[in-house]
Amino acid sequence: MRGLKLGAMVAALVAASLPAMAETTVLNHVTVIDGTGAAAKPDSAVVMTDGKITYVGPSAGLKVPQGARVADLPGKFVMPGLIDSHVHVGMMRDVTQDVKFYDRANVEADLKTYAAYGVTAVQVAGTDKDVIFDVRKDLRAGRPKMARIFTSGQGMVAKGGYGGLYGLNVPISTPEEARKSVDEQAAKGVDLIKLWIDDERKMIPVKMSYPVTKAIIDQAHKHKLKVWAHVYYLADAKELVRQGVDGFAHIVRDQAVDKELTDMMKAKGTWQIASTLSREIVYSMAVMPWINDPFFTRGVTPGTLTALRGPAREKAVMLGAIRFPGLPYEKRLFADMGRTVVQAMDNYEAMIKAGVKTGMGTDSGPNGRFPGFNAHEELAMEVMAGRTPMDAIKSATSDNAAWLGDKSIGSIQTGKWSDLVVLDEDPLADIRNTKSISAVYVAGNSVPTVWQTCRGRPSNACTGGWKDRSPTPY
Ligand SMILES: [Zn+2]
Repeated sequence: MRGLKLGAMVAALVAASLPAMAETTVLNHVTVIDGTGAAAKPDSAVVMTDGKITYVGPSAGLKVPQGARVADLPGKFVMPGLIDSHVHVGMMRDVTQDVKFYDRANVEADLKTYAAYGVTAVQVAGTDKDVIFDVRKDLRAGRPKMARIFTSGQGMVAKGGYGGLYGLNVPISTPEEARKSVDEQAAKGVDLIKLWIDDERKMIPVKMSYPVTKAIIDQAHKHKLKVWAHVYYLADAKELVRQGVDGFAHIVRDQAVDKELTDMMKAKGTWQIASTLSREIVYSMAVMPWINDPFFTRGVTPGTLTALRGPAREKAVMLGAIRFPGLPYEKRLFADMGRTVVQAMDNYEAMIKAGVKTGMGTDSGPNGRFPGFNAHEELAMEVMAGRTPMDAIKSATSDNAAWLGDKSIGSIQTGKWSDLVVLDEDPLADIRNTKSISAVYVAGNSVPTVWQTCRGRPSNACTGGWKDRSPTPY
């Protein structure tokens, strides 16, 4: 026993005294879209050493490091891993949302699904249990094999009002309670503070008051934490910008945004950090056009597929109403979703034309919005609303990283983490080609792609690849 221990100690000492053999992978003869908005660079090489990018440049200038694994990938495209700046994790079982499902295993299952779709980092919007801090610590300590996370802990919800995860967030009603709640979240180590100001299309009599939102924003800024807000109404968006909010988790949807709002946002540097267009459209469809597309079916559980293919969802959308578990009232918003989508798209277009800072965020996680899958829908909808594919990719990569204040991710540049997506086809020619995922790397670790995934089933239970995709419905 003693000898064995001593032997292990000697081995550990020897290992510590010798420089470890670097793990190096080269992706050669690829077209690099680096995420900064710079033009795509054909015949390039990317060198990943121990998870970091150590060379990106012309293949002609590549010096292959000793012992490197070299993948020659002519015809393929490499872009940074996507960052989804508005998600919820760990709270679903099939299509049922409940705080009791939230645990580390369920969170990690979601983070692996995100990575499979090429989403290598996510920002969670105020519905995390405290176990998230353990998950985050482990992800940041090493070289993860799932999406990285940024957490808002438990976001700020008005007492009797809208938002949060039922049974998790502790509601507040006064500025004093707001300051105390922000202090508690800051002490836990949140990355930023989330608040909800909404009344579910006037179905709820209470909405967070402006003195409370002001207290949250001022207190968070004392802790040097950004505040992002769920908004719906134009008037609330304007008041929050005046109060100094840092970003919006959704686009305004009650009416058209105007020059007063976009001018104020530009003057103050306020972000439209997530526009959640893919969230708005999903509730306007009685039958999802992608319901049999392998790009979708591979990433969701069989129970989810059964529920979505059943008559209940269709009925809810057609009738415009549904009862959510835990909610004391019936949601009657589905009938309004067609208008909401159009308003959201118009307002997104107005934001980008005005030059407001934008990120890409989906609000994936809750019922009907699918981890990873929705990021690709979001990019496609951004392009439909008037963005170039290059700008859509930039908003989902380097722009989102800038919002997060994380200089180690978001673009393909020397010194950053090798969080990369390899594509078979050119996403600049057609943004929907972001689905042609050939490989995903998180910190240089190759992780299973969606095309190698079959969530909740044995891996051979799913069939179909990029070539078998259904014709795009829009
Ligand atoms: Zn959300």
